[in-house]
Amino acid sequence: MSIGIIGAGPGGLSAGMLLANQGFDVDIYERMDKIGSRNSCIEEDGYRFDVGPTFFMMPFILEEIFSECDKNLHDYVEMTELDPYYQLVFADGQKLKPQKDFTDFKDSIAGLCSEDRDGFDTYMADNQKKMDKVLPVLQRDYGSHLSLLSKEVLSLISVLRPTTSLWDDLKKHFSDDRVKVAFTFQSKYLGMSPFNCPSMFTILPYIEYNWGIHHVTGGLCNLSKAMATAFEELGGKIHLETEVEQILTDKRQAKGIKLKDGTEIEHDEVIINSDFAWSMKNLLPNEKRKKYTDEKLDKKRYSCSTFMLYLGIDKKYENLEHHNIFITEDYKENFREIESQKTLPKDPSFYLANPIKTDPSMAPEGHSAIYVLVPIPNLKADIDWDKQKQPYRDLTIKLLKERAELKDIEEHIQYEKIITPKDWKQEHNVGYGATFNLAHNLKQMLSLRPRNKFEEYKSMWLVGGGTNPGSGLPTIYESGRITANLIKNKYGQR
Ligand SMILES: Cc1cc2nc3c(=O)[nH]c(=O)nc-3n(C[C@H](O)[C@H](O)[C@H](O)COP(=O)(O)OP(=O)(O)OC[C@H]3O[C@@H](n4cnc5c(N)ncnc54)[C@H](O)[C@@H]3O)c2cc1C
Repeated sequence: MSIGIIGAGPGGLSAGMLLANQGFDVDIYERMDKIGSRNSCIEEDGYRFDVGPTFFMMPFILEEIFSECDKNLHDYVEMTELDPYYQLVFADGQKLKPQKDFTDFKDSIAGLCSEDRDGFDTYMADNQKKMDKVLPVLQRDYGSHLSLLSKEVLSLISVLRPTTSLWDDLKKHFSDDRVKVAFTFQSKYLGMSPFNCPSMFTILPYIEYNWGIHHVTGGLCNLSKAMATAFEELGGKIHLETEVEQILTDKRQAKGIKLKDGTEIEHDEVIINSDFAWSMKNLLPNEKRKKYTDEKLDKKRYSCSTFMLYLGIDKKYENLEHHNIFITEDYKENFREIESQKTLPKDPSFYLANPIKTDPSMAPEGHSAIYVLVPIPNLKADIDWDKQKQPYRDLTIKLLKERAELKDIEEHIQYEKIITPKDWKQEHNVGYGATFNLAHNLKQMLSLRPRNKFEEYKSMWLVGGGTNPGSGLPTIYESGRITANLIKNKYGQR
């Protein structure tokens, strides 16, 4: 059986490995000249930057995928568990450093608010119960609304508080807003505001504390590279610089793909890893779609986008940890600007990665590779990026000088690259520039999210952040595993 996968992102590679391991004939078509796209790296002038993911969580999921293929992930990559996980810097200058030693961490929580010290224990106990119920829900397929009646989902209902937001749910454990920020800013991993994000996602910090946050030597892009190597060892073929222009269909059945150079290739099954909204609008003509027409796609909710600044700096900054999150004074207003007003935040929270703290291979000796991510509205906002790119870059530099206290940074820039929402769309084929894909609100989850076995066509499948379970590396690897299992089942393999 021949399988064609559109895109060599983490989702496509995960499905590809598992299917190649079962003896399927798998071809991955990737439009770029390198593996991974959002999970690739920029290598310039001796500096290395991850383009997207920098937090590697729940490594056991990728370890399992490798071991299902009789391989050991650790033969392919070197990993370090970070401690502290990151530092949060609040507008009042106070810092909080979540770390592996929970007693020390509780002491630092108490440093912000003594009443909240024990809230950590009740938070962890509450979320351990929740996680036990959430994990099986994230690992199964939702091929119909009936699947919502599965025992996994029904058991989750007892701990779900569907009408409560992440922020409100945290009130039962913590009273200080800064401590609540420390347990809610993680909704940004899904590109959502904690004030709108469903309370189910209180599990995100639990995931950090329970399984740690890991760095991969050379950057998290090495995860996708490792998967590509393993996939080829398993007999799969990767075609770089090979852009798919259209998915070929006959009635309601996928038949193969047409490349940009006009070549048509037949496949028994077609898996879409390219960004869901982008793929619908570009790879299947509008008149050939019913549930996901352009008009319906425009009405869906999407994650925020990100303004990215990658800076090669000819010095090191001792005040930075590996991961640094700077929280703005008016946290709520910042989210309002991004999600409701759809304007560029004037005083945003931002994230700064300084991987040199752990991994000297990321920059020349004595230098740093600084990665800055500012959450901003996606392309549904009326923002002219040709005009705003430079002023927003200047605002970001100002934040680095003032909030991150890198006062002389501008004089030390040796390399600089910017990615705007427009670039996410044009250079990475990310629909609406929504870097974390479709939003994870209740109307767009489980059987209401585009399904792994795609609803509109037979023999057409989805993997990646736009299908189940959702965005983020561990869940994207799971999407590949869910889809691979469905295809294996279709051909009588288990
Ligand atoms: C800035 C940023 C930070 C993030 N940080 C984290 C983090 O710290 N931790 C985490 O777990 N997750 C993070 N994520 C989220 C998510 O894990 C990554 O974006 C992940 O790489 C997405 O994987 P994917 O397989 O869904 O899609 P992609 O990586 O986008 O893969 C799709 C592939 O399809 C290719 N393609 C597109 N169109 C075509 C075509 N026509 N023909 C052929 N190929 C095509 C693309 O080039 C790409 O390689 C982050 C995302 C971003 C953008």
